[in-house]
Amino acid sequence: MTKVAIVFLDGVGLGEDDPLVNPVAAARLPVLTGALGGRRLVAGSGRIDAPRASMVPTDAGLGVKGRPQSATGQTALLTGRNAPLILGEHFGPRPNAALRAMLEGPTLFTRLVAEGRTVAFVNAYPQGYFDAVARGKRLHGAIPQAAQAAGLRLRTAGDLAAGQALSVDLTNAAWRSAMGYPDMPLWTPWEAGQVLARLSAVHDLVFFDNWATDVAGHGGKLAESVRVLEEIDAFLGGLLAAVDLENTLVAIISDHGNIEDLRAKGHTENLVPTMLIGAGRQRAADAITDLTHVMPAVLDVIRDA
Ligand SMILES: [Zn+2]
Repeated sequence: MTKVAIVFLDGVGLGEDDPLVNPVAAARLPVLTGALGGRRLVAGSGRIDAPRASMVPTDAGLGVKGRPQSATGQTALLTGRNAPLILGEHFGPRPNAALRAMLEGPTLFTRLVAEGRTVAFVNAYPQGYFDAVARGKRLHGAIPQAAQAAGLRLRTAGDLAAGQALSVDLTNAAWRSAMGYPDMPLWTPWEAGQVLARLSAVHDLVFFDNWATDVAGHGGKLAESVRVLEEIDAFLGGLLAAVDLENTLVAIISDHGNIEDLRAKGHTENLVPTMLIGAGRQRAADAITDLTHVMPAVLDVIRDA
């Protein structure tokens, strides 16, 4: 049986191969670049089929004018439906009622659960997040919304402390310094990658939602964007070193461009990279040209035991 580990990176597009405007071109990314046979994660590379990994430039615009946004893009990734076209616009960051209704319907998560597969949405949320949602002060993003609608458990600080969840900052440092958990264990990004590999070993699908890339893109600072990207590369190193790639597809996906162009104040209309490493990656790569193709491609890989 083939497993899938999805690392979702919010706001990562394929930009120019210019380190002055594109942090992806400026960052040292030995894991990603090595997997891609030395090719760069930039627009000029086109589709890459290296010995270890494929990278498919993926359309996030979906035929709708304007800059792609997170709620519609993530809904397209999770439902396989053209959410911006159905809504009539790119919308985000949080889903509105129409998108929430789509996320309550069939998704990647509900389909796998209905088939008896095990699915883990691995992000940890602090107690304050659960309290704010309960008070109506905060709306879930599209991914936790879909996870909860599928009956998946949203993981807690206790899960993170036990190595059963992941933090968006990878190291847990923010939990200690700013979120009221001074005893949270500190990890290296590499160690966080190994945590995801361990969770992948016992679930058919693991899904990690990392939005640090989109936050860095909105911040527009080169050094901070490079730092975030280099930590994610180290995280992927830990994941790929420990995951069983004979039986697992690692899919690194995004919803829209942002971090790859510091000149843009917000999101970009660039293609986004879909990186596929491990079992079934060639087949998945051949099936994907836009965001709506990711969900069916992942289902096909998992079902083709
Ligand atoms: Zn954004």
